[in-house]
Amino acid sequence: MQLESMYQEIILDHYKNPHGRGLRDPFDAEVHHVNPTCGDEVTLRVKLDGDTLADVSYEGMGCSISQASVSAMHDLVVGKPVTEALETGEHFMTLMQAKGDPSVAEKLEDELEDAVAFAGVSKYPARIKCALMSWMALKDASARALSVADSAGAPATHPTAPTTGGQS
Ligand SMILES: [Zn+2]
Repeated sequence: MQLESMYQEIILDHYKNPHGRGLRDPFDAEVHHVNPTCGDEVTLRVKLDGDTLADVSYEGMGCSISQASVSAMHDLVVGKPVTEALETGEHFMTLMQAKGDPSVAEKLEDELEDAVAFAGVSKYPARIKCALMSWMALKDASARALSVADSAGAPATHPTAPTTGGQS
């Protein structure tokens, strides 16, 4: 089927030429996620600018689906507000639950861009986790980065040294 081979082409292209790969500084949070059923791994960092994802950098290894997924995700989420990026993640989740239904992919095409190419993966329950790993990592890292940002504005939680003085 023509559409399916086009999708495969997109996935292979992201796998061979990953977009935004490499771990970059500075970053607000780093997470490491694994998909033990397949042996996929990703280390993912997010850098926030206010509540916008200024950068999402990563390293990973594993099957083509898992590694292509993080590359396609990078394109989709960098420069977006966290809430919007996580909404896109919800739509990707919907695509993964579509069991290969082409009408779902059609509806999400504009929103998911290259990530819609993973539509075929939803027919293979064992591979869905491969495609979702990067999005889980993003959700986790974003939550951590936001909680860091929150506490930065709050009073210091670590106790300041008592100023009783003269401990010599
Ligand atoms: Zn995999």
